[in-house]
Amino acid sequence: RSLAELDEAVTTCRACPRLVEWRERVAREKRAAFADETYWGRPVPGFGPHDASLGIVGLAPAAHGANRTGRMFTGDRSGDVLYQALYDVGLASQPTAVSIGDGLTLRGTRIMSPVRCAPPQNKPTPGERDRCRPWLARELEFLRPTLRAIVVLGAFGWQALLPVLADAGWPVPKPRPSFGHGAHVLLGDLHLFGCFHVSQRNTQTGKLTPAMVREVLVDAAAAAGL
Ligand code: SF4
Repeated sequence: RSLAELDEAVTTCRACPRLVEWRERVAREKRAAFADETYWGRPVPGFGPHDASLGIVGLAPAAHGANRTGRMFTGDRSGDVLYQALYDVGLASQPTAVSIGDGLTLRGTRIMSPVRCAPPQNKPTPGERDRCRPWLARELEFLRPTLRAIVVLGAFGWQALLPVLADAGWPVPKPRPSFGHGAHVLLGDLHLFGCFHVSQRNTQTGKLTPAMVREVLVDAAAAAGL
């Protein structure tokens, strides 16, 4: 199987009844501003080149963002912050992400999430996180030959990712390194960076500024040889 086939396969997954119900209900009911759009309403595959050396791991698709557009972080406020920062440091071809087909490409960078379906209140259950884990694990296996650094956005992604990395054979120390903004851990040949999530809760309160996002991305890009 190729990564392209994996991307295709994940979009048909229905393993989590609560998330299937939610993602499809949101897609039917829509938000008024997007009433004339057809929502994606399915699991969202990773976005970016198949030989990426830098990974970005978030949390889960936003109900009216990636669950609407079908592409990671595309069409919501979190994505506005992330893609602007990626563009500013030379990793994205344009500063905005509107929809599949808007021409956006990433340089050496692939965006993934540990949970592929939009969860109510942006909160997947531990069971849903664990059920979705094999999708991320398989994606990382494909990227393994080129992957040199990962930026993890938020504690949820950090806690979800470390067991996947440990299972795949990367040397994850015990006790596991804790998440923090600016955290930098070396796991064998893989650099792991922590960054507060680009959610409005963090960006609107000033807990996370665009400069802070850029700083982590610059370090991670350098570690990834980009
Ligand atoms: Fe499948 Fe993951 Fe969506 Fe659950 S969250 S239905 S495991 S893609």
